[in-house]
Amino acid sequence: MKKILIANRGEIALRVIRACKELGIETVAVYSKADKNSLHVQYADEAYCIGPNESTLSYLNMQAIISTAMVSGADAIHPGYGFLSENPFFAKLCETHKIKFIGPSAKIIECMGNKAKAKELMIKNNIPVIPGSHGAVENVNKAIKIAREIGYPVIIKASAGGGGRGMRITHSDEDLKKALELAQKEAQNAFGNSEVYIEKYIEEPKHIEFQILADEHGNIIHLGERDCSIQRRHQKILEEAPSPFLEKHPELRKEIGEKAIIAAKAAGYQGAGTIEFLLDSSGNYYFIEMNTRVQVEHGITELVTGIDIIKEQIKIASNEKLLLNQEDVKISGHALECRINAEDPDNDFRPSPGRINTLILPGGPKVRIDTHIYQGFEILPYYDSLIAKLMSYGKDRNEAISVMERALDEFKIEGIKTTIPFHKKILQNAFFKKGEIYTNFIQRRME
Ligand code: ADP
Repeated sequence: MKKILIANRGEIALRVIRACKELGIETVAVYSKADKNSLHVQYADEAYCIGPNESTLSYLNMQAIISTAMVSGADAIHPGYGFLSENPFFAKLCETHKIKFIGPSAKIIECMGNKAKAKELMIKNNIPVIPGSHGAVENVNKAIKIAREIGYPVIIKASAGGGGRGMRITHSDEDLKKALELAQKEAQNAFGNSEVYIEKYIEEPKHIEFQILADEHGNIIHLGERDCSIQRRHQKILEEAPSPFLEKHPELRKEIGEKAIIAAKAAGYQGAGTIEFLLDSSGNYYFIEMNTRVQVEHGITELVTGIDIIKEQIKIASNEKLLLNQEDVKISGHALECRINAEDPDNDFRPSPGRINTLILPGGPKVRIDTHIYQGFEILPYYDSLIAKLMSYGKDRNEAISVMERALDEFKIEGIKTTIPFHKKILQNAFFKKGEIYTNFIQRRME
């Protein structure tokens, strides 16, 4: 592989460009008009404007991206996360044009992209899933029957859902009647697919996910777990590796890790991916979904394993064999990531676009920051509000927390509101410090 086009923007585009540079691979950036002053445009060897500001006309414009890849002579496309990264049609389009899509095949993306179908595949492979409907639920009668069988509360989820959107928790038949139709409509609007499924709503679960690497020669390993339980409205905001809970339960960790490998094998997986589980308070674990791309939070796994996940993705896509066995993967120390968003935590986390007048980035030992912002940069309203991923490392969790607190104090941004003050509050919370975290943590302990 000599040249890679990065079909993305922001910090992840930079992350991929950096990996390519270190591997001696040339890079091609694509950008919307609004992003002409972005760092990914400056850092890449070549850059092409592919459309106007709106994502649908630029970063989601498949024809423009494919033709740019062809004109520039790129061998492969790295989709990053979001945008076209989990679009089977795009993966297929790359294949048709003999451009390597850095990710699994269109068939696997499609299969795992329907969460209800993915669950069915896991059931067949003896992987525990949350009790619920087998496949889609079309009508109220069926929904009520299932809800009564599994017991309220239940959660209605969009089969094509993602990003924590399209979920509704219901507590009674009456609730469910109203919620089902609304959920179907919402799913249709948000994901272009009205299909929903139902599962038992787990109270106060932990979100634990295993990072997978699978080559094209049948070798599959995992790089340990991440705990992503600190969420707001089902969206992750602070992640850590390893999980403080599984640190105390090594047998359980081993078992879930093995199930994650079985799940990836069942999917016929290739590339970097993540198997997500929920853990209830009794230590039962359940598969919820597989993400068939690199994740925002991959960096904390890199910090505790020393493995560069983006480089591994590229090597796998070049048909190289994994050089690591499961036994070679050693987890050492602890890492945290705070997602710094351009949002106002004092105003319901509304987006806070604008120009960054002053910027002082944190640094020093054991700090990693992945960001595309610089002083004078303008945060635009068209895209995701993530502006920086601040990561800290420590020999243990306490040290990683101290490093993060110090780094957050150093981080100065003026001109826009950010989630930095909110992260400081989480880190100061006594329950967080003890590692007592679960997905409703913010509602229960912070509001
Ligand atoms: P998405 O693809 O939108 O991220 P997921 O299925 O991965 O959706 O779930 C995201 C989050 O939603 C989980 O981490 C958890 O907080 C919550 N969630 C999903 N399913 C359940 C459930 N059955 N019970 C309780 N919480 C759930």
